[in-house]
Amino acid sequence: MDDSPGVTRDRLYGTADWNGRSFTLIDTGGLEPLSKDLIPSKIREQAKVAIESADVIVLVTDVQTGMTASDKDVAALLLKSGKPVLLCVNKCDNVGNQNPDFYEFYNLGLGEPFAVSSVHGHGTGDLLDAITESLDAQSPDSDEESEESEESKILKIAIVGKPNSGKSSLVNKIAGEERAIVSDIAGTTRDALDTVVQRGGEEFVIIDTAGLRKKSKINENIERYSVVRALSAVDRADVAVIMIDAVEGFSEQDSKIAGYAHEKGKSCVIAVNKWDLLPDIINQKYETTARGHNVYNLSGKSDKAMDEYRNKLMADFSFMSYAPYVFISAKTGQRIDKLFELAKETYTQNSTRIGTGRLNDLLAYATARVQPPSDRGKRCKLYYITQASANPPTFVVFCNKIDLFHFSYQRYIENQIREAFGLDKTPIKIIPRERKE
Ligand code: GDP
Repeated sequence: MDDSPGVTRDRLYGTADWNGRSFTLIDTGGLEPLSKDLIPSKIREQAKVAIESADVIVLVTDVQTGMTASDKDVAALLLKSGKPVLLCVNKCDNVGNQNPDFYEFYNLGLGEPFAVSSVHGHGTGDLLDAITESLDAQSPDSDEESEESEESKILKIAIVGKPNSGKSSLVNKIAGEERAIVSDIAGTTRDALDTVVQRGGEEFVIIDTAGLRKKSKINENIERYSVVRALSAVDRADVAVIMIDAVEGFSEQDSKIAGYAHEKGKSCVIAVNKWDLLPDIINQKYETTARGHNVYNLSGKSDKAMDEYRNKLMADFSFMSYAPYVFISAKTGQRIDKLFELAKETYTQNSTRIGTGRLNDLLAYATARVQPPSDRGKRCKLYYITQASANPPTFVVFCNKIDLFHFSYQRYIENQIREAFGLDKTPIKIIPRERKE
């Protein structure tokens, strides 16, 4: 945490771990209007997104300003949601000498408030205990997912990307072309944006995140919410389609969402949309994050232009070199079939399970071909490998000393696995473990 503006602003989420339970914390940036012109309905909309995304909600209030009218409004909204809500009263910096304003917060009707000092860390342990208790009560951790995959084999695809990249156009095109929207899943607000479509005789669930696009232009805070919504769509999906507007090029927001999908080990497909505008795209300015503006020199021929465009994007998405690219047009329908094929393929790879025998044969072969590193006469030894889980494929490698199992050699083993088992389009994880010989 840092007081200087801009330092923590962009950090929207983090993975937290408390007493062996891990969970994702999303910082929604606040429900209070930043500017006076933000009307209460907008606040409600923001709150709705926060509620939809969360399993537990922590309302953070400020003891130094005391209870405010908007605390009351937000508390009332959160209570109605039916989700577990914890009340954190922050800035209680004086231990043992409670600020009298603290007791006022009981009036919010959210139960016992947690007195916390974020700066000093006081009280955070109790709050974290309450968070994990609530999560445990809802789901005994990992079981949830396996149950879900038993029950529904329909592939869930989240379409995420910047406003105006063409997400709604794509959904409309898919649904319209096939004239086979099976249904809009009714019921919970959580699923309100899910559409079941048919493609090549198969059903897919499309999780569309276009909902907030118009307003996001108006207010930065709501823009933030559209990212929060995208993150929650990625959480629920099997595959994330990262939609890039070919004319605009890569943006920070894309890499934020893609980075999240990567951390979560989700399959991703990078779809460059509006490829029908190729003549316009040629010589367009292509924004890159670190390097400022580059003139985007593309060849006139589509195939070559694609290669050039892909190469540029691969530099921006270098952290997920496994993600396949497809150049589509939501307008004309070009290569949408290919998009679905890739989505299926990445997910099949993501779900792969490889037997321990085959893995250890590969390990023997790989370590014979390139010797593991050594340091000051001590050589790294890899004893055994096994796949711990799928989605994403996660491999535990037992070694004599973790420090010796350098990242570059882990990378080598990873690449050997990818090559041997055809896992070129999915994230995979390697977890080194130490074991006595
Ligand atoms: P969203 O905010 O991501 O849902 O984007 P929209 O689907 O609303 O599209 C934004 C604008 O881009 C609209 O004017 C669309 O007509 C246009 N658009 C979307 N996809 C394409 C495409 O493939 N080609 C062209 N030429 N325009 C597109």
